Amino acid sequence: MRKNIVAGNWKMNTTVQEGVELAKAVNARVKGTATQVVLCTPATHLTEVSKVINQPALALGAQNCADQVSGAYTGEVSVSMIKSTGASHVILGHSERRAYYGETNAILAAKTKLALAEGLTPIFCIGEVLEEREAGKHFEVVKQQLNEGLFDLSAADFGKVVLAYEPVWAIGTGKTATPEQAQEIHKVIRDHIAAKYGQPAANDCSILYGGSCKPSNAKELFANPDVDGGLIGGAALNADDFMGIVNAF
Ligand code: PEP
Repeated sequence: MRKNIVAGNWKMNTTVQEGVELAKAVNARVKGTATQVVLCTPATHLTEVSKVINQPALALGAQNCADQVSGAYTGEVSVSMIKSTGASHVILGHSERRAYYGETNAILAAKTKLALAEGLTPIFCIGEVLEEREAGKHFEVVKQQLNEGLFDLSAADFGKVVLAYEPVWAIGTGKTATPEQAQEIHKVIRDHIAAKYGQPAANDCSILYGGSCKPSNAKELFANPDVDGGLIGGAALNADDFMGIVNAF
């Protein structure tokens, strides 16, 4: 079901000890919030962080998973390993994974199916690079990412996925999409979902915005009817900033 969600993507930052302190600080402050808050930590931190979070609003997620179930895949982390830490979510298709690790829509479709089969909620990222936006191709790009990455799912499985629209030109750059740009493309995404799975399914889908979201701009981004929260990178590494965004609803 559609929910307001703020997910923090810690990326490759913090030691386990620092991550535990950050998680404790967020845990102490999410009490009573109606927003679903997710901490997506490095895989090495999941087990320890799961021990220090206990608020109903707060969930734990990984940032990636293997595209295989188990076996001889040195260095990979499987969905069942992630689940066994107490995590409930996994980010898939982040633009850094797509750009630096060659993750294609086909690989991401396989990872999404494995995550869903394990009972994990995928936070599936889509978004265009600057050249694509400048060429007016951004709607086409996100539709293709949806078609190839997710639209092979049954309606029931699609209903378990959270989407994150992240314009690549806004990630870690300090440039944010304007509220109008965010609403425009979130509506295009929702309409595309409606065309595939029907309007009720589209209405039920949580679509997060990501890209230089901060306490100072979160309120106006989240005020849009088709923006259901945020996927937060840099600002998720500071409990005050992160909670400023959570409390923007
Ligand atoms: C992200 O990496 O998902 C992200 C949105 O990063 P930042 O908030 O730092 O732009």
